[in-house]
Amino acid sequence: MKVLVPVKRVIDYNVKVRVKSDQTGVDLANVKMSMNPFDEIAVEEAVRLLEAKTATEVVAVSIGPEKAQDQLRQALAMGADRAILIKTDDEVEPLSVAKLLKAVCEAEKPELVIMGKQAIDDDSNQTGQMLAALMGWPQGTFASKVVKGDGKVSVTREVDGGLQTVSLSLPAVITTDLRLNEPRYASLPNIMKAKKKPLDVKTPADFGVDIKPRLKVVKVTEPAKRSAGVKVDSVATLIDKLKNEAGVL
Ligand code: AMP
Repeated sequence: MKVLVPVKRVIDYNVKVRVKSDQTGVDLANVKMSMNPFDEIAVEEAVRLLEAKTATEVVAVSIGPEKAQDQLRQALAMGADRAILIKTDDEVEPLSVAKLLKAVCEAEKPELVIMGKQAIDDDSNQTGQMLAALMGWPQGTFASKVVKGDGKVSVTREVDGGLQTVSLSLPAVITTDLRLNEPRYASLPNIMKAKKKPLDVKTPADFGVDIKPRLKVVKVTEPAKRSAGVKVDSVATLIDKLKNEAGVL
């Protein structure tokens, strides 16, 4: 079984993002970039399938700038076999990403696509669902457990107040939730080995996909500033403040 894992280069989750002064987006200058955390979980799951001999090949794919090769090399160092970069410096919306991934699926014919449930930069939570719809494949979103069966895969999903298990016929799309696994750190020897693994570079035009934006970002703003807390010296003062200042009692 061939597994395709889309990985996105995003601002590192530890970075405190700054909104640009013209409110058109966030400042990316000199900011640490990393693999989207949900995609690390997807790579880990795919590599575990490879180690269990359930998967025969894991292909990582990223759509983004030249530097997205860093995230693909990380996927290779974690254990993916080869990688494809679809190079573009343009902003790519989930629909464009899904169309490009559809083209990659048609060329590569994976039986399973494992991807993040959400990219932590745009928080869209759309690409996996759109890809499944474009391919006409079943989807198991927010996976916290994945078990491969014969011609199918069982996915346990985190839903409000509990878990739901669905059985998908293959080929299928799975999107990962936080508790699916704990991604490994790539060891130094594996980082070195990853440098020699194949990484193909393509462009959206190679796949004949139009990535013109359909959405316009109207405005990006910082969250409202929180006012500083105060220390109170007694329970009576606390109750008085909650009643008369905060109005929550
Ligand atoms: P989103 O729908 O933007 O929240 O992203 C959901 C998932 O789609 C991510 O976790 C990735 O697995 C995949 N994805 C989104 N954008 C890209 C991209 N530019 N390159 C590769 N994968 C992507």
